[in-house]
Amino acid sequence: MTDAAFEIAFKNVFGRAPEGAWAAPGRVNLIGEHTDYNDGLVMPFALPHTTRAAVARRDDGLLRLHSADMDGGVVELPVADLAPGTTEGWARYPAAVLWTLRQAGHAIGGADIHYDSTVPVGGGLSSSAALQVVTALALTELHGVQGLSRQELALLCQSSENTYVGAPVGVMDQTASACCTEGHALHLDVRGLAQRQVPFDLAAEGLRLLVCDTRVKHAHADGAYGKLRAGCEAAAEVLGVPALRDVAYDGLQAALDALPDDRLRRLTRHVVTENQRVEEVLALLDAGRTREIGPVLTAGHVSLRDDFQVSCPELDLVVEAALAAGALGARMTGGGFGGSAIVLVEAADEAAVGAAVAAALPQVRQFATVPGPGARRLW
Ligand code: ADP
Ligand code: MG
Repeated sequence: MTDAAFEIAFKNVFGRAPEGAWAAPGRVNLIGEHTDYNDGLVMPFALPHTTRAAVARRDDGLLRLHSADMDGGVVELPVADLAPGTTEGWARYPAAVLWTLRQAGHAIGGADIHYDSTVPVGGGLSSSAALQVVTALALTELHGVQGLSRQELALLCQSSENTYVGAPVGVMDQTASACCTEGHALHLDVRGLAQRQVPFDLAAEGLRLLVCDTRVKHAHADGAYGKLRAGCEAAAEVLGVPALRDVAYDGLQAALDALPDDRLRRLTRHVVTENQRVEEVLALLDAGRTREIGPVLTAGHVSLRDDFQVSCPELDLVVEAALAAGALGARMTGGGFGGSAIVLVEAADEAAVGAAVAAALPQVRQFATVPGPGARRLW
């Protein structure tokens, strides 16, 4: 939908003109999965797919929300009544952001907001983070909030999901949506939040990256996430370190020997080797050896499947079919139990690999992608 049509859509819902429009992207995580809540390393990039928000302020203390992607019409919430646990459905994400901004002392009042999105919802590509970040950026810019960095904005969004939505997520997704830049992957050290934009120009190298949405999300995903997180924390406690991040790669065997049970050993082995894989991918990209990241991606999938045990038959099928058809590397991306896989291929092999994936899992929705820009004002 064009900018003009998006403005008209806002007018049709709210009967007046918006003051502006913003966009925030979904993300793909290239490497570094389930490491963010272990104070570790991640390397996401922004998708060209975005969630847009057209916004106008209100002076009567109401937050009115509408999404072109959701049934149920306008959701109306008095800003003064917002409180953790009180909002249902999709509206809790933007409500959480507004509540958290106010808790942080920012003078933000009511608004009318209309959303639409090209990010597949529930596909492991962080439509939820796109929704949060576009809301936070729009509200802070419209209200003239000064001195809030993109990373701080992402932290506020994460906090809103932890506190208000009640999901114990790490900060990768929101940081990717807020901070990524076109043509780059974002190397993020979650401890200390040091960022580096790493050139990742697939087209120039004759490569393609396919995103394959399995269109499944297994029901136990949310509960499993909390248990995995708790398991990682338990392992760190036994090892006497603040987080699994602190287990060095060359100290892995000693750490495994010190852990009392197989589950904690598996979780630890994944996190430690995955942090190492992020550093390997970074070094390869820096050296211009982009093709060679393929096997590192595949090793990441094997670790998520066998050690962290967050893959599922559909994701494994996609990865196996892609590799058998000649892909350079493939892995699940995002939290797991469904969602999407990424596949690195030579441009010349794109069609054959895509066809093999579609034959293996007919419901798959796939597209080739390049790193797009982070959140921004549209007009
Ligand atoms: P993912 O982030 O992988 O897409 P999640 O389950 O974390 O999946 O987030 C999806 C949820 O985020 C949806 O169920 C909905 O509540 C909310 N959401 C995402 N995009 C939109 C949108 N465009 N409009 C309204 N709600 C959205
Ligand atoms: Mg999400």
